[in-house]
Amino acid sequence: MHSVLIHNIGKLVTPLAKDKDDSTRPLLEFHNAAVLIEGGRFKSIGRSFDLLNTTPADVARHDANHKLMLPGFVDCHTHPVFVGNRAGEFFMRNRGASYHEIAESGGGIHASSRKIASASVEQIVRESLPRFEMSLAGGVTTIECKSGYGLTWLGEERLLFAMKEIEKIIPQRMSKTFLVHVIPQDSQNRRVEFVQSVVEEMIPEVHERKLASCVDIFCEQGAFSVEESRQILSVAKQLGMSITIHANQFGHSGGAMLASELGARSADHLEYLNRDEIEALQRANVVAVILPACVYFMNAIPYPPMRSIIDNGMRMAIATDMNPGTSMTESIPFCLTTAAIYGKLSIGELLWSVTLDAARVLGMEDKIGSIESGRFADFSLWNLPTPESLAYFQGSAFADEVWINGEQVFESQFTVQRY
Ligand SMILES: [Zn+2]
Repeated sequence: MHSVLIHNIGKLVTPLAKDKDDSTRPLLEFHNAAVLIEGGRFKSIGRSFDLLNTTPADVARHDANHKLMLPGFVDCHTHPVFVGNRAGEFFMRNRGASYHEIAESGGGIHASSRKIASASVEQIVRESLPRFEMSLAGGVTTIECKSGYGLTWLGEERLLFAMKEIEKIIPQRMSKTFLVHVIPQDSQNRRVEFVQSVVEEMIPEVHERKLASCVDIFCEQGAFSVEESRQILSVAKQLGMSITIHANQFGHSGGAMLASELGARSADHLEYLNRDEIEALQRANVVAVILPACVYFMNAIPYPPMRSIIDNGMRMAIATDMNPGTSMTESIPFCLTTAAIYGKLSIGELLWSVTLDAARVLGMEDKIGSIESGRFADFSLWNLPTPESLAYFQGSAFADEVWINGEQVFESQFTVQRY
């Protein structure tokens, strides 16, 4: 990997790892900056004028043209691997159908699962790849990716294979999660046997073949009970896998309490969250993962109490929840818009939640998430005057350049300077 000096950076903005427990979430802001990259990692950060003078002449130079430089974003909760499109459901919901009514009419997760059942790995890869490209254009350099629409082992295995294929093609770092989503339709009357097959066959298989490093469960009415979730996640934990929970999306499901009991890496959703649950999660050091674009898109559940989560000392990440049913967006900038409005968050709170705190969810907080010496050189350049503009241009902010491991992996074909 060659060395490169990124110079003439108008403004470099980044959180710093030393502030990882600082509840005020400060940001370093550096004007007229340059960054020297060596071996795929940040080597030094300084004034553009100084680094241009001190860097050896044989090191390549890349002019940032006064752009805004930010650390690569980490989208730590996504379901991007599926086929087809559920726009029809979106309109049903807008006419008043509930999440559960849509599911009962044959839509929802089971609709995606039927499509997976008749799709080849090649089709799944082909239809999923554009979503990773869109995510990259929004500045995401590390993406968590869940299975979950296969439901049966046959379907899940196909999805996990597709994820492996996609990982080979895309430039982003990928963190793979095996999601135990809902009971397949043909196993509805055999719950106990299905849970047993997850525990005794599926999870050991996923672990042994290294198909995913994390296990997630949808702990909610209509999906899995607290007891079933505990049984499933305990097995994953015993195998040394990390665990996470889709918790408290439609009510006080017990998912948040279970996340704190088991020491999950994160509890995700948390639209319904009371003081006791916040305190339990905080004590167990569980990161809250907030999915504001999902709440916006569903328009039927409350926004999570983002202010209380932060003000009670919890770490919080924000992610897209990219999925065909309840959050069809790949855009982290759009999530920042919704979180800024409905969470009343500052720019520091927003940026931390998609960089270092999101990296913490994936266990990568020492490697990525900030522009600091020794970390992987994952960053983006934007034709925007300030980081606040990311949230301000609701959903229409795209990166101009994206770099991963010190290599440029994306250049926008649509270059517009915004003021
Ligand atoms: Zn989700």
